[in-house]
Amino acid sequence: MNNIEQTLSIIKPDAVERNLDNEIKEIFKNKGFSILREKKIQIEKSEAEKFYKVHETKPFYNDLCSYLSSGPIVVMILEKNNAVLENRALMGSTNPKEAEEGTIRKKYGLSIDKNSVHGSDSIENAKIEIDFFFRD
Ligand code: UDP
Ligand code: MG
Repeated sequence: MNNIEQTLSIIKPDAVERNLDNEIKEIFKNKGFSILREKKIQIEKSEAEKFYKVHETKPFYNDLCSYLSSGPIVVMILEKNNAVLENRALMGSTNPKEAEEGTIRKKYGLSIDKNSVHGSDSIENAKIEIDFFFRD
């Protein structure tokens, strides 16, 4: 069944800092994702707070927002059949220690907070997150 979707992916500061962005983009392309748009940016903490608003009551919220705004990130619109779920599978578990072999977080993630990539968790959130970074 043809079910083309778009999802938002972010290569987080820990990975960009280690110059892993091109390597990670190649993984997406090799797995059949098209990168429709991409940009390398650094965001303000206040923007990170908006982006991660769903987590505002969590104990890790403040550190998470400081971290996402701490250095350059690469934000991308990925397209593929079932892109939302396929990207989550390719990323692996939030905690790299629990991530499956062959996943991006298993390979590159440093810790549960510095886990190298973000991916939208639903079609609805993918639309919101794509609009957040690529409104124009
Ligand atoms: N996070 C953290 N500590 C935790 C759980 C999550 O620092 O105990 C960070 C981590 O960077 C994660 C992000 O918060 O990627 C968002 O958490 P979520 O549960 O949505 O995980 P994800 O959807 O990224 O797998
Ligand atoms: Mg999430």
